Amino acid sequence: MKTKQIFRKLLRRLRGEPEMTAQMMIELISSLEHTREGECSCDEVYAIADQYAESNLSGEDVERLKPLIHHHMKMCQECGEEYRALLRVLEGSLAN
Ligand SMILES: [Zn+2]
Repeated sequence: MKTKQIFRKLLRRLRGEPEMTAQMMIELISSLEHTREGECSCDEVYAIADQYAESNLSGEDVERLKPLIHHHMKMCQECGEEYRALLRVLEGSLAN
């Protein structure tokens, strides 16, 4: 991802500055990606939530495949709850 490359470069340049730690940079990168991608609005998460839930239930590593969605589900209480409800419904329909 382009942002990561830019920040990796920046990180190399900043190395030696004690007030900017690698951990801080990583957090900055993820928060930037979070806002930058535009994939994480509640509407968009909601639009693919069923797909995401199905992937999750079929054993796919959604945390790795869709990190932005995963992050949103964790950070956004509303979407997280919707998602867990959806998971329960899907699990129920699979059991039948
Ligand atoms: Zn949300």
